[in-house]
Formats: sequence, C-alpha cells, structure tokens
Amino acid sequence: MPEIVCQLSELKIPEAIHLPVTFHLEGKEISEYFRDNSGLRSSPLDITFDSSHRFDVRPQAGLGVDDWQLQDALGSLFRLDDKRKNPRVGVFLTDIYTSHPDAFGFMFDRDTNSGDYGPRQGCAIFVLPILNALNRLNTAIRDFDELVAYTIAHELGHAFNLWHVSKPSFLFESPDARTFRNCCSFVPEHAEYLRHASDLDYAEFILPGGTPFGSRGPLHASAGDDSFLRAKDSHKLRIHIETTHDEFHYFEPVELNVTLLTQEDGDFKVPDEIDPGYSSFAIWITHPNGERVRFHSTHQYCPRGKSVSISKSSPFRRDISIFMQKGRYTFPAAGRYRIQATLRVSSRVVIQSNTAECEVLPSKPGSGDFDASRQALCSPESIKFLRYKSRLPIHRRLLSLESIREKHWRSPSGCAIQYAIGRALFSMSERHSDQKRAHQLRHQGRQSLERAASHRFIGKHRLDVIRLLLEQNKS
Ligand SMILES: [Zn+2]
Repeated sequence: MPEIVCQLSELKIPEAIHLPVTFHLEGKEISEYFRDNSGLRSSPLDITFDSSHRFDVRPQAGLGVDDWQLQDALGSLFRLDDKRKNPRVGVFLTDIYTSHPDAFGFMFDRDTNSGDYGPRQGCAIFVLPILNALNRLNTAIRDFDELVAYTIAHELGHAFNLWHVSKPSFLFESPDARTFRNCCSFVPEHAEYLRHASDLDYAEFILPGGTPFGSRGPLHASAGDDSFLRAKDSHKLRIHIETTHDEFHYFEPVELNVTLLTQEDGDFKVPDEIDPGYSSFAIWITHPNGERVRFHSTHQYCPRGKSVSISKSSPFRRDISIFMQKGRYTFPAAGRYRIQATLRVSSRVVIQSNTAECEVLPSKPGSGDFDASRQALCSPESIKFLRYKSRLPIHRRLLSLESIREKHWRSPSGCAIQYAIGRALFSMSERHSDQKRAHQLRHQGRQSLERAASHRFIGKHRLDVIRLLLEQNKS
C-alpha cells in the first residue's frame, strides 16, 4: 500500500486566523476521499498528514510569498526531517501569493538543479483570498475551514498528477467559494487513475516525486498540441514572441518576450492565462534534432476566470524565463532551436505566434571565461535570482555574478545580471519596513536599472518595465 506523507507547514498565517489541526470536508478527512477512490481492486492510497514541523519553517519578512520563498520553504521543510519519508508532499498554508493575489492555491515543482525534491512535491494554499471570497458571500466560519480543505484536496490532486476537468469534482477547472460543495468527489477517470498508484509499472506517473506533471505514460493522453489548429477569427488577435537574445550558452538566462496585440478597433477580452502554468497557454520548442516538446512550467495554476483587455493602443506584454524546466536546462544541446507559443482563447479558437529562432552555442570547457561564467550562473541560488529577480542572492554569490557582469558587460548575460539586480533591489525596497533602508534600496535599484537601460541587449520589453519602475519610484 503506497503511503504518502503530506507535511503541513504554516507560513505567515495572520494571528486572527486559526486553522484546524486536521482538514475535513462534509465530515470526512481529505485522506479518506483519496483512500476510498483509489482502492477498488488494489491497495488504496494511504495519505498521512504530518504536522510535526508545522511551525518550523521560518518565513521571510513582509506580506505574501513569492515563488522563490516557496521553493526555499519546501527545501527547508524536507531537510527538517532526515527520515527521508518518501513519497511526500509539502503543503504550505500561507497568506497570499504575490504574483496572483486572488489565487486559492497551486501545485509546484522543482525550479532548479538543486535536487532537494522532485516533481509534484509542493502545494501552496492561500488563506487570505479564500477568506475574502467567502466574506463576499457572507458565510459562516465553518465554510472557511472547508474551502481550505477543498483547496488542499484540489492541489493534492495535481500532486498526484490529476488534470483539470469540466465536470464538478475535486479537479473542477474553476471551483469557487459558492459552488465548491458540489465538487467534493473524484470523477470516474480520476478515481481510475489513482487506482494505479500501487501498480509498480505505473506508480511513477501518480506518486509525488515521480514523473513531471502532465507526463502520464500510457495511463492518460498528454495535452494535445494546439498549434496545428486553425481558427477563423484568430487574425484579430496576434501573439508575437521573441527571445531576449538569440545566441547563448545553454546555462545563460534567456527570457521569452510575449506580446498579445490586435490591429482591429475595439477591445478584446482574452483569458488572463498568458503563462505556461495554465493549460491554455503553451510554449513549443523544436530541438535541433527535430523533436518538438512543450515547455514545462514549474507551476500548475488553476484558472480563475479572469480576463485581460487588449486594444490597438494597449497590447499585453510580459516576459517568461525559459532557460530551465523540470530542474534541467531547456536548451541542452548546441544548435538551432525554434520556439512557438499558442493561446487557447476559447474552446474553439486557438491563436499561434510567429516562430522565434535561437542558436545555442557549443560549450568550451577548459576555457577560463566559459568555466567562470558557467560556475557563476549555474548555482541554484543564481538561477533563482536571475529567474525571479525578487531579492539579491547571498553575498558570495552576488559577488561572483557581479564579476561576470563586469568581465562580460557587453554580453546578454551581463545585461541580464544588471537588470535582475535592479529589479531585486526595487522588490526588496517594497517589502522593507524600515523607511530609511527602503529608500536606500530604491536609490540603488534606480541606479542599477538606469545602467541596465543603456545596454544594447536590454530589449523593448525590459526597457518598458524599467521606465515604469523608474516612473513609479521617482525620488
Ligand atoms: Zn487546479
């Protein structure tokens, strides 16, 4: 019988909120739903909730958590327990997610090569948006505990590699505070999927720490490639993509700039899901050997039913860090890669982007410059810093990155390091409670971004971000 340990951890839960010791839904513990649905012909999944380190992970200061904090927290939580309980999931009960403040929760994967944990081993549950959604409905406090429990069940479902479905169930694609009570069951195909957990041939597709999310072997077809679909009215909306630079070594930080635009008059509403963490948005990468793969996101976001408005004068723009996926490098071999993005804007309409091309340069091990750059850029701490840009890395790491920046100032990596330092300083200033220190950080951030703005590899998107930050933080 596969036993799975869910280690609970509370981070930044406001004092006024008291979470229950165990989580129940309709009088049943969450683990019972999994047990009852997984053991028809075989030994059922046995989920144990472990609260022995519930208050032992020290959060960083400030309201809200970001990806970097959650990733670090998961590493810390697992290190607290040297018993190497496996398979296991870290379930973080926390206040609010800084990048999507209305998200109830999500499931996440490893983001670097650190090896502290594997795929599908982290879940985050955000209690403030849950409470706010319930407050708008005027419901009693019991519903709060149950909606938290429901969200745990939903995210655990993703940790067991279950996909969203359109039927009311634990993995309903858009559960909300009003309707979640009608969703406290697994659909038959999910129950069937969970039953394979005790089958040695298939366990890796189900148990946390096994295959990456979405990789389900022969048990369930993976998401189809939408990019071959043609849509009648897709010409009204266009996606344009480009990489921040088109020649780089496999370990250098590369971002994909995505712009959603229209040439037509009027406003267009599209799902606010332009992120590879949503199933509706995909980045397709064709390797030099012709193999075409979907870029794998570290997160599994759940749609919130929100949209963004796009018009001729205000396109939607963002960048997506793409140099790592599944804890490995996205562009591992030297050669030419092609990249395309697709967005499903409704059940019938899919739009596809232009094809961007980039060249991954051959490695030069043994050459001093190559080795030094690789060493500075490849540490998990550097990868997180360049990817999230939400705080500076530890001092020693920052020094080695600064030395690479100075030595290779004219290179794309020099630009990426400078830009990330500026962004991180601004982000830290926002969280700092000491006004004087916050002012100092903003000042340093401004100087860093002004220097980054002069770089020839900065690109239009990053320049827009810099202008906005400088405008918002005038001294
Ligand atoms: Zn979901």
